[in-house]
Amino acid sequence: MTLTVTFDLEDHRSSPTQEERFVAMSHRFLDFLEQRGITATVFIVGEIARSHARLVQRVAAGGHEIGLHGLRHVALGDVGPARLQAELREGRELLEDVAQAPVRGFRAPIFSLTPATEWAVEQIYSAGFAYSSSVLPAANPLHGWPGAPRQPCRWSNGLLELPCPVGGIGRVLIPFLGGIYLRYVPSPLARYFLRGLDDSAVPWSYSHPYDLDPDERFFVMPHAGWLTSRIVHTRRGATLPRLEAAVLAAGGAGQPLGEIARELTSLDLPAIGSS
Ligand SMILES: [Zn+2]
Repeated sequence: MTLTVTFDLEDHRSSPTQEERFVAMSHRFLDFLEQRGITATVFIVGEIARSHARLVQRVAAGGHEIGLHGLRHVALGDVGPARLQAELREGRELLEDVAQAPVRGFRAPIFSLTPATEWAVEQIYSAGFAYSSSVLPAANPLHGWPGAPRQPCRWSNGLLELPCPVGGIGRVLIPFLGGIYLRYVPSPLARYFLRGLDDSAVPWSYSHPYDLDPDERFFVMPHAGWLTSRIVHTRRGATLPRLEAAVLAAGGAGQPLGEIARELTSLDLPAIGSS
């Protein structure tokens, strides 16, 4: 087993007047990867290619795969069916122009691909994506799809889905390899969850620029209330050491998701979705 490292590169500020720290934190993450020879998948919000082209170019120059994390960091349901496809195309083209690399993967902001937004699957596929990494197959306070497959699966139109790895006891499942869970779940328990993953599951971690930032001043984040923002604001210094431990526990860093998706192209996979 190996662990694929992914990063969601987004500007999480609630207002443009706030100090912009996501750029420095993204460089911190890229330094971490390069020092360890890890090649990651970096899902980038399309608008960032316009405002921070050099950062996107550093990701590409490091040999990392670039995927789209929405044109804007907005949940699929809030973008809506009238605008999504045009936004996905624009975001993909922006990233491809700046990075000079193909963009084949998509991750919905806040794992917002759920039964309520299944209409988005056709638009994601039509916008030119080969795979999605947008489903959290568990109940979650923000977005989740309890009961969705926990291994690579295929939508009826052929789009591949690489769901977020979850672990747990009984019916309580958590995405233990990412976000706040990565730094809160005790390492022995994380290793237990890792061993418990299905053989066909694709283990990947996910982190955000703010997950690495112990020095940021507290504020209530968009898409989150005060309590969630408080939890997200703590233990940030533990993220990179925990990520390093998880990679070691998994037996090393895995290939970027795009390479895994390519290898799965011709395989029979379970179905996801209602049709
Ligand atoms: Zn995000």
